[in-house]
Amino acid sequence: MFKNVFGSGFIVRTAHVILAWVITLILFLHDTDLRKQEERGELIQPVLFVLLVLVSVLLYFAVSLMDPGFVLSDGSDLQFTLGIAEETQDMIPPTTKSLRQRRCGHCLLQQPMRSKHCQTCQHCVRRYDHHCPWMENCVGERNHRWFLLYLAVQLLVLLWGLQMAWSGFTTAPTWQLWLRGNGVLLGTVAVVAVLSLTVLLLLGSHLYLVSLNTTTWEFMSRHRISYLKHCGADENPFDRGTLRNLWGFFCNWGTIVWEQVYFREGNDPI
Ligand SMILES: [Zn+2]
Ligand SMILES: [Zn+2]
Repeated sequence: MFKNVFGSGFIVRTAHVILAWVITLILFLHDTDLRKQEERGELIQPVLFVLLVLVSVLLYFAVSLMDPGFVLSDGSDLQFTLGIAEETQDMIPPTTKSLRQRRCGHCLLQQPMRSKHCQTCQHCVRRYDHHCPWMENCVGERNHRWFLLYLAVQLLVLLWGLQMAWSGFTTAPTWQLWLRGNGVLLGTVAVVAVLSLTVLLLLGSHLYLVSLNTTTWEFMSRHRISYLKHCGADENPFDRGTLRNLWGFFCNWGTIVWEQVYFREGNDPI
């Protein structure tokens, strides 16, 4: 299920861990509210903060090392998929949606619908979303919901950290003295603010795409995707309404045969 911890992403994962704990350390070494509470013996918030940082780091590792949904063989579900596809293709006019089973030119396996080969991971990934360089892993069918949970927890930690860093600024009679006392904290605020904005935008855009039941890859490269390029500009064959899309994304943990959804939706009476 998990990839090698010491694989190609070792440097980026180490950088993530160092960044998370160095920022936490800076918050506790300056005169922030966290430090003041700790000194007064009010440990609930400081302990909660450290636990939340720990949870965010553990979630990061889980998403980073998890199998994103690699297509590892021409499995039994694919036979099922092919059966469905052939059966369904007889029922629909050849000029509308048609399914051509693609075989990947790199790993030579048949690609289920919505999967794509990732050059970095060197595997085809089910319901491919994107390859995340910060995770050094693909985001796909199996780890996408964990990726969103990670982003949500990370955003919470970052905003809390930003508030704490802001509370730690001290006054000084001159700018030079102020910078000497607050320079590190000012740098931390800048880094945390940029990271917060990035995570907020990522989380917002992913939730939007999930609510439409589309992926980043499908959204960005619609015209290049064989099963979408014949659809109208606003037509998404996988869209089952916002609530059902969100429910399916967060609560359906099994492998979905997207060919079934694609053709069933196409044959629904209007
Ligand atoms: Zn492949
Ligand atoms: Zn990848």
